[in-house]
Amino acid sequence: MKVPLLILYALVLLKKGASKIMILNCTVCNQSYETIFPNKKYCSDVCAKHGRKNKRKEWEKDTNYNEKQRLDKMAKRHQIKEVKTAEEIERLRLKKSEIDQKHAERIKNQQIELEEMAKSGDPSARMRLAKPNSLEYWKAYQQSESEQYNQNKRFLRLINDISVLDEYFAEKVVESIKEKGYIRGHTMTIKN
Ligand SMILES: [Zn+2]
Repeated sequence: MKVPLLILYALVLLKKGASKIMILNCTVCNQSYETIFPNKKYCSDVCAKHGRKNKRKEWEKDTNYNEKQRLDKMAKRHQIKEVKTAEEIERLRLKKSEIDQKHAERIKNQQIELEEMAKSGDPSARMRLAKPNSLEYWKAYQQSESEQYNQNKRFLRLINDISVLDEYFAEKVVESIKEKGYIRGHTMTIKN
């Protein structure tokens, strides 16, 4: 295709009477060369290649091509970073829910343990499970304090002047708190 076209062009030039062989200077290497084509710029394929490369470079400079490419790449990198950030957020969310689940399990296990301790009669476990100032709370309190008193028989605990040794301690304390609106505890030292 290339050769017949060149021949055709040469024939056209011949017809126009431009068949004259010209001596031109290569725009790349500046060497002179012979040609019948007045628009020819390069002496050889090698120089043509260089010439096109230089033209491309000039075009890039004129159109600010490299800066545009740089900004384009930066924008793409930014997008990738945003995707990564979304992945990171998802990963952290999963990790957090895992931690939350483990925490909930631990709380549940502690509750089960506490309930078992309370069932077996541990007064502090009973107190922790009971509602504040409920009958159950004061019953557990009575158990705890009277057990301690029975160990040394020295320090007797009273709430609103009601002794933990009182059979109806819990009922009386609940009633007294309702009536007086306060809770006052004190320890009586028993002299043996
Ligand atoms: Zn050349």
